[in-house]
Amino acid sequence: MLSIIRSMALNGVDGYLINVQVDVSGGLPGWEIVGLPDTAIKESKERIRIAIRNSGIEFPSRKITVNLAPANTKKEGSFLDLPIAIGVLQAIGVLDIDDIDTTVFIGELSLDGVINKVNGILPRCIEAKKLGINRVIVPKENAKEAAIVKDLEVIPVRNLLETVYFLNGTKKIEKEIVDIEKIFSHKNKYKYDFSEIKGQGNIKRALEIAAAGAHNCLMVGSPGSGKTMMARRLPTILPDLTFEEALEVTKIHSISGILDNNSIITQRPFRAPHHTVSSVALIGGGKIPKPGEISLAHYGILFLDELTEFNKHTLEVLRVPLEDRKVSISRVNATLTYPCNFMLIASMNPCPCGYYGTKEKKCNCSEKQIKTYMGKISGPLLDRFDIQIEVKPVDFDKIKSNKKEEKSSDIKKRVDKARKIQYERYKQYNVFSNSELTPKLIEEFCILDEKSKNLLEMSYEKLGLSARAYSKILKVSRTIADLDGKTNIEVKHVAEAIQYRNLDRKYF
Ligand SMILES: [Zn+2]
Repeated sequence: MLSIIRSMALNGVDGYLINVQVDVSGGLPGWEIVGLPDTAIKESKERIRIAIRNSGIEFPSRKITVNLAPANTKKEGSFLDLPIAIGVLQAIGVLDIDDIDTTVFIGELSLDGVINKVNGILPRCIEAKKLGINRVIVPKENAKEAAIVKDLEVIPVRNLLETVYFLNGTKKIEKEIVDIEKIFSHKNKYKYDFSEIKGQGNIKRALEIAAAGAHNCLMVGSPGSGKTMMARRLPTILPDLTFEEALEVTKIHSISGILDNNSIITQRPFRAPHHTVSSVALIGGGKIPKPGEISLAHYGILFLDELTEFNKHTLEVLRVPLEDRKVSISRVNATLTYPCNFMLIASMNPCPCGYYGTKEKKCNCSEKQIKTYMGKISGPLLDRFDIQIEVKPVDFDKIKSNKKEEKSSDIKKRVDKARKIQYERYKQYNVFSNSELTPKLIEEFCILDEKSKNLLEMSYEKLGLSARAYSKILKVSRTIADLDGKTNIEVKHVAEAIQYRNLDRKYF
């Protein structure tokens, strides 16, 4: 007899329907799986056979043929264990499932019949619902994640036998329910707050501007000056994730198998990969493809601490995704695309010893050494940072002072306001922040008056700014004016923006 069971596979961040066709017929015992299965799926035969037997059900000693349709896409992973097992049981008459066409099965089996969790449940369930599926039968551990999808009946199962009893109507299993609105209405609670950092007013200001215009930012300073501490607090002043953004972020984390609370992510991600990270781990890909750090940082922050320590090639592969806000990964038969719209924040020392230009220690590096050190970052990559700031250690009296520092929530209010202005202004251009402005839009929206023009020209001569600094200064001036609630960019906005290019002349 032939049975057809539905399941969902993954392509990039999207699910697609798979029909698991199982035929059990007379003839020599044995079984075959066709339809481009990978090794994990080929090996599932043994797992399924033993899991069925260990669940106390007799395994048919007949000829079994499984076809995974559509046959032209490669199926990866062990998520088809459960649908194939159910297909076999349906084909031999152990099961007679109602609503078989509108039910999806996903799960990996252990030899004892226990159903293990699989990655990427959320994107699979989102797509299943779109295709008219009403019910999903998923591993218990994945149930909360699946239940994020509205109006989808989620049945959490722990083992094969329980699933059989449920489908036969001899056991009731409560469907999983998650109160999304409740989770979402909870205010963002971060572990960190800007008020914990004493002093550093100018750096906090620069980061507020970065947050307000979604500008990438490079911090240069000696060890212990607090670069990492401040970067970590940046998500606390970014606008809240919308529900749609949160779904996107959760999908990517789901595919990577790192959803820790098994439900929706409501905070902007902060990813800080170590400098030994490989290109694949940073960008995404691999034998069983996974999103990289840049996609895990989607709608959040990618923080690269000690930028010069990263492999030069690894950094160079960042350039295109930074521009495109998505990354394409070539595979043998297809190309995968993962989104990666993140803010890049990086930190580095000013020189190999770390103390160039500081008061507390003398720098022993030669000019040539400093040049080589800085040369590790290519011009085009450096070009991606709209804001460059120099971070100095806090003076001792500031650390000791009792002065109350401003809370993240107060800074965030200003950021929110500035973002809203940008959102309204660029609505028709598919642009959301000043950092995304194209040369044409810069011309339209970053108009300078005579005074500002003169200042900028003068600074060019005096400070020896590079040509590439020009559009950065205009974009950052626009953000500063937005924070100030001003329609026109004024000379003071330009003057402040110029300060965030100081490193250009100092080091490069
Ligand atoms: Zn040095």
